[in-house]
Amino acid sequence: MDFLKSLGHPEEVLNLLLFKVRGCNGLVPKTDKNNTSNTLRTCYRYLDQTSRSFAAVIRALDGELRDAVCIFYLVLRALDTLEDSSSIQHHIKAPLLQSFHTHLYQPLWNYTESCEKDRQVLEDFSTISLEFRKLSSVYRDIITDICWRMGEGMAEMLESKLTTMDDWERYCHYVAGLVGIGLSRLFAASGQEEEVIREDTELANSMGLFLQKTNIIRDYLEDQQEGREFWPKEAWGKYAKTLAEFTHRECMPAAVSCLNELVTNAMQHIPDVFTYLSRLRNPDVFTFCAIPQVMAIATLAACYNNPQVFCGVVKIRKGLAVTLMMEANSMRAVKDIMARQTLEIAEAIKPEDPSASETHHVVKKVLRLTRTEDHGGLMVKTRWSLCASPFSVSCALIMAVVSWHYLATLQDMLAW
Ligand code: CA
Repeated sequence: MDFLKSLGHPEEVLNLLLFKVRGCNGLVPKTDKNNTSNTLRTCYRYLDQTSRSFAAVIRALDGELRDAVCIFYLVLRALDTLEDSSSIQHHIKAPLLQSFHTHLYQPLWNYTESCEKDRQVLEDFSTISLEFRKLSSVYRDIITDICWRMGEGMAEMLESKLTTMDDWERYCHYVAGLVGIGLSRLFAASGQEEEVIREDTELANSMGLFLQKTNIIRDYLEDQQEGREFWPKEAWGKYAKTLAEFTHRECMPAAVSCLNELVTNAMQHIPDVFTYLSRLRNPDVFTFCAIPQVMAIATLAACYNNPQVFCGVVKIRKGLAVTLMMEANSMRAVKDIMARQTLEIAEAIKPEDPSASETHHVVKKVLRLTRTEDHGGLMVKTRWSLCASPFSVSCALIMAVVSWHYLATLQDMLAW
């Protein structure tokens, strides 16, 4: 099925084939299982279970930094699960969020009252905190500080609605910008990146905001169904009386206008993303940071001007996701991907859209930044179009996959 969806994109078919043959290890190096304690192995299992896209990219990191980032992720996942638990009343939840960082040093602390999907990280928090306490003190101090600031921020936002665009920025800072800032401090502490990565907190914040805004935009319907709202009123208030109206068919044009406004807003972070990524020196850290960012631009391109955001799930094709993961290993490649996805957005701009001129403006800015002196052909597609149509190349590749499976089966049978 994944192959069929990528029929018009031969490079995706090829990468899907490689992915099926090599598995996930073809994309990122394997975690070394030697010298890993049982509790740390449990932590990595929780990482696989709870993170959507983070687990694979964390494995791209090196040694000590990889474990620190894994624990950082799980601690924040536990805090976020607490924040998401709708069964806990606000006056009980607020102090829980604010004191959460203190539990990192309480070996027996856990929390069993959550009904959330990821509640296991709270119920078995003692395993996570045990591994946390084994980390070097530089990593522990960074994780504790970010956890404290995020808990305070979440408690503050419990009672306040996302009214203004500033509220939106502030909320995204607490739940994602702080992650970018914390990761940057971990990179610098490991010695794998320079101090400037840690010092420029504005850029690190922007990296997180780009991802968070993208998720909030994409998850409109899911959040509505769960009774949560993360779109800022200052934006949707121009198009509707309530945010829930966007699920009504007759409100679709207004809903799409609001969607396009928010996508345009999120795209303003791309120049910061380029600056941040261009400062990274370690190739593993680069891949770790770049993959979520290119996934985000592809998600924005899939959402832009797409009414499906309000009536279903918008996902990027698996073939595209695998291709992006394989490609995003240099600044040149990231800029090419960003340019390709931005051009897709540019092609979908309708002149009558209220944000059209703003969108054109940010598109131009991004495209200007992706241009460099080197000849580098922008489109991978053009490489294919020189020899044959994308469709026929895809068909040939699918034939290759089918033959490969057939031969493999035949081989098994003969071996028997
Ligand atoms: Ca949350």
